[in-house]
Amino acid sequence: MADYKKDDQLIATHLGDEYEKYLGSIIPPIFMNSLHVFDNIEEYNDKTKRKPDSYFYGRVSNPTTHIVERKVAAMEHAEYGLAFASGMAAATTALMSVCKAGSHIICVKNAYGVLTGYIDNYCVPELGMSVTYVNGENLEEFEKAIQPNTDLIILESPVSLVFTVQDIRGVTALAKKHNIKTYIDNSYCTPIFQKPLDMGVDIVMHTASKYLGGHSDIIGGMLATSDEAIFKKASMLREMLGGIIGPMEAWLVMRGIRTLDVRVRRHAKIALEVATWLEQNEKVGKVYYPGLASHPQHELIASQQSGSTGLMSFEFKDASREQVCKFVNELKIFKIGVSWGGFESLVCTPMYPSTPEHAAEAGCGWGIVRIHCGLEGAANLIADLKQAMEAAGI
Ligand SMILES: *Cc1c(COP(=O)(O)O)cnc(C)c1O
Repeated sequence: MADYKKDDQLIATHLGDEYEKYLGSIIPPIFMNSLHVFDNIEEYNDKTKRKPDSYFYGRVSNPTTHIVERKVAAMEHAEYGLAFASGMAAATTALMSVCKAGSHIICVKNAYGVLTGYIDNYCVPELGMSVTYVNGENLEEFEKAIQPNTDLIILESPVSLVFTVQDIRGVTALAKKHNIKTYIDNSYCTPIFQKPLDMGVDIVMHTASKYLGGHSDIIGGMLATSDEAIFKKASMLREMLGGIIGPMEAWLVMRGIRTLDVRVRRHAKIALEVATWLEQNEKVGKVYYPGLASHPQHELIASQQSGSTGLMSFEFKDASREQVCKFVNELKIFKIGVSWGGFESLVCTPMYPSTPEHAAEAGCGWGIVRIHCGLEGAANLIADLKQAMEAAGI
C-alpha cells in the first residue's frame, strides 16, 4: 500500500478525507463561516485549552482551507502549507517573512513581473532594500551577486516567457553556504513535475489561479515550507495583512487538485506536439519550450523537472508587427488573454506593449508570441495555428 502522505495521486485524491467528521460525504464541505464558537470562556480565552483541531476566526484559518494547505504541503514534501487570496498575496508574504528593511535580494530578472514590480516600486524605495537581477543561467552570476546583507534568492524555474531554467540544486547549495533563504515560484511545473524542497529550496510558492485551480474560475495562492520560523512569520503576516483565501476558493482549489495529475500530463502531451510542430514549421524561428530536446538547457531540465506543462513561446522568422497581430486576431481556439493553467488555450504578445530594447533585455524578440495549450486537442490547436498563419500571410 502506497503511503498516502507521499504519493501525489493519493494526496490529490484522498488526503484530508475524514468521512466520520463530515457525515460520510465523499467531498468535505465548504465551511462558509467567519468564526467558530466555544463551549466555555476559558477555552475561548486560552489557546492552550482548545482542542487540537479547533478554529477561531476566518482570517486566521478555516477547516476547508486547511485541507488544501495539507494537500499542497504534502505534494511539495513540506511540513507546512498556507493558502492565500492570490499568488501575489503568497509571494509578497513570503518575501516579507524573510526580508526586512535594508535586506538585499537576488532575483531572476524574468521572474513574474508583478513581484519584481513590488520589489522595485515598494521594497527598494520604501523599505530601503536593494536587489540584484540575474539571468539565472549560470551559478557564478548568483555567487557574484551575493552581498553581506543578502537575505533571499528568488527563483522561477522555468521562467514563463523565455523558459530558461536555473540550476536549483546549485543555487540552494550556494545559498546555504551563505545562510541565505531561497524561494521558488513552482507554478509552471506544479508539484507533479518538480519538487523544489527536495532540491534544498526553503519556500515554494504557487499561484492557484493557474494549474492548481485549473479551470480559470478562481484567484488563489499557496506557500509551502518546512522552515518553522518562516511558516510562523508567514502565518502571522497573513493574519495581519488579511491575505487568506476564501473558503469557496479553497474548496475549488481542492477540486482542481484532485485532477491535477491527469490535467498536467495531458497539457504536457498536447504542448509537446504543438511545440514539435512549431519547431518543424519553416515560418517559425525560435520555439521556447522546456519540453523540447533542442532546449539549450535540456540536460539540466531533465535533472530537475520530470515534465513540462502547457505554456510556451515562439517567434516567426520573418513577420511584421501587423502580421503577428493579425495572426493572433485570426486564431479561433486560442483566445486572447493573460494568464494560463486552465482548460483553455490562450495567446498573447507579451512584448508589444513594451519596446524592442526591453524584449532584447529579456532575451527574446519583440514579436514573441506566448501560447497556453489547453485541453482542446493537439490536432485542433495545430490546425488553428496553421489557418491563422495563412490568414496573416505569414
Ligand atoms: C499569475 C502568476 C503569478 C501571480 O498569481 P496571482 O494568483 O495572479 O496573484 C505569479 N507567478 C506566475 C508565474 C504567474 O503566472
